[in-house]
Amino acid sequence: MKILKTNRGLQNNLSKERNIKKSIGFVPTMGALHEGHMSLIHEAQKECDVVVVSIFVNPTQFNEKSDLEKYPRPIERDTAMLKEHGVDYLFLPSTSQIYPKNLAPTPKINLGQLATTMEGEHRPGHFEGVIQVVYRLLMIVSPDQLYMGQKDFQQFTIIQAMLDQVDLKVELKVCQIHRQEDGLAMSSRNARLSAAAKKKATAIYNSLIYIKNNFHKEPIEKLKSEALEIQQKSGLTPEYIDIADGHSLQSIDNKSASNYIVVCTASWLEGIRLIDNMILRS
Ligand code: AMP
Repeated sequence: MKILKTNRGLQNNLSKERNIKKSIGFVPTMGALHEGHMSLIHEAQKECDVVVVSIFVNPTQFNEKSDLEKYPRPIERDTAMLKEHGVDYLFLPSTSQIYPKNLAPTPKINLGQLATTMEGEHRPGHFEGVIQVVYRLLMIVSPDQLYMGQKDFQQFTIIQAMLDQVDLKVELKVCQIHRQEDGLAMSSRNARLSAAAKKKATAIYNSLIYIKNNFHKEPIEKLKSEALEIQQKSGLTPEYIDIADGHSLQSIDNKSASNYIVVCTASWLEGIRLIDNMILRS
């Protein structure tokens, strides 16, 4: 595995790959890697000749300074894991490589209402930061395929909206949520939970499963209130639980309103914010 820290270094290597007609798959991450990230990498390896993984903890997408500071950065462990999984290139840029002085502004993306709900509502500025960094990384890497997780449902929806509006020749591939055996969605933030909290956090998954299993029987309001209770009984503090149209990301209060429905939630435990979602109808 080649490790590159500069845009130029990475681009020189990738242009050689492109010259010999290799297709390039790209998996952007913020590190503290886990099996969820590896599942994206495996998908990329199945479909592309060369796989590039980036690790960059993007300051512009954190709306809380302390969250940015506490974000785990086990870079040696991450590097070993990527080598073990046969990744071709690890891109480890500094902030000045991603955001040099005089960088041209990110194109204006019309998100409509996509960023006004759920994560957009509770983390002001978050998606502007995500769009900024993903656009910038795509300009540097120029991959054929971009791999992202369904774990961040609103994020991939917004990135698809961006790709529909900018002139970049890249295809977004969305990979399913990788979970522990007990259902907890893998997340870099789980590393900050105590062992007891990791057990409690499975209530997030249980609350989503409750909604999925009872979706045809119960009205939306009841589904949401029961799910909130499942989380609260386990000591979680839910921030939101929303049943929404999977395209527009707007809440629905009636099941016949959409043929693509998702439940998304964010919940706090030990000062850590966890998110998860489940598709209810597609
Ligand atoms: P992050 O490092 O948290 O920014 O995540 C990098 C990519 O991995 C994003 O596209 C996430 O949606 C994806 N991802 C994170 N957790 C999981 C998971 N448990 N299963 C599948 N993909 C994931």
